[in-house]
Amino acid sequence: MIETSIKIKEALEHGRRTFAASDIEDPKLEAEVLLRHVLNIDRVRLYLDTGRELSAAEYATYRLVLKRRLNGEPSAYITGHREFFGLDFYVDYRVLIPRPETEIMVETALEFASARPVHLIADIGTGSGAVAVSLATRLTRATIYAVDISDEALTVAAENARKHGVSDRIRFLRGDLLAPIPEAVDMIIANLPYVKEAELREVNTWGYEPALALDGGKDGLDVIRRLIGQLKGKLKPGGALLMEIGAGQGSAVTEILADTFPRSELRLISDGAGFDRVVTLTIT
Ligand code: GLN
Repeated sequence: MIETSIKIKEALEHGRRTFAASDIEDPKLEAEVLLRHVLNIDRVRLYLDTGRELSAAEYATYRLVLKRRLNGEPSAYITGHREFFGLDFYVDYRVLIPRPETEIMVETALEFASARPVHLIADIGTGSGAVAVSLATRLTRATIYAVDISDEALTVAAENARKHGVSDRIRFLRGDLLAPIPEAVDMIIANLPYVKEAELREVNTWGYEPALALDGGKDGLDVIRRLIGQLKGKLKPGGALLMEIGAGQGSAVTEILADTFPRSELRLISDGAGFDRVVTLTIT
């Protein structure tokens, strides 16, 4: 006889074991996130109701979802959610899934904004809009240009702006890096693609995320270099550029910046693991 009923507790254990056997990281958490998604309940409810039985339809959906995850699809795409900077973002295959390390760049931006007035910001390569929306919720007087080359990404970003009630202060522009920015701004913030071509497969193992958001060319710096080439005249005096970079790209990027803008102030910020993560340039 085919097993058609299963309790929450058993479903969790089944998911955990299945993921562990396939070397998926955090198997327990993954099973929990996916089961909560299928049952549409919070974590507390899940653990209060461990004895409740899944309906046949719920069980079937859960099995399907486990299969998608086993095929390499990220949980964030399956559930449509990812938390970033304490906010819930809608994500799908059209955008890169926000990474926790990008919060460092957002924190650095808020620090800069606490030291001097920041009225106009440009977020370049906005993707899901995680950076632009996070900044908009904190800097309630700032206007933000959110730029992406991908129309599809801008659709997702606009949805996230609506979700967090900041649509009136974010202007979405489609185009190449700084090209569509109509005026000089106080701050440019950018998490551009910076993965080396040769390492692309490691990062985007199953090819679910848009390569456009990750691929930085041969040395990973193609897009960053292009943005720096467009920078002249786009920052107000005293304005700052903040860019996320990859581990080990710090000296190369600061060198390009120092060559292009000899009279600027540069700072390199590492992440918790001690890797280069954010570079900032202040125009003096
Ligand atoms: N930090 C991302 C990763 O390695 C790369 C994001 C990017 O290219 N901006 O998965």
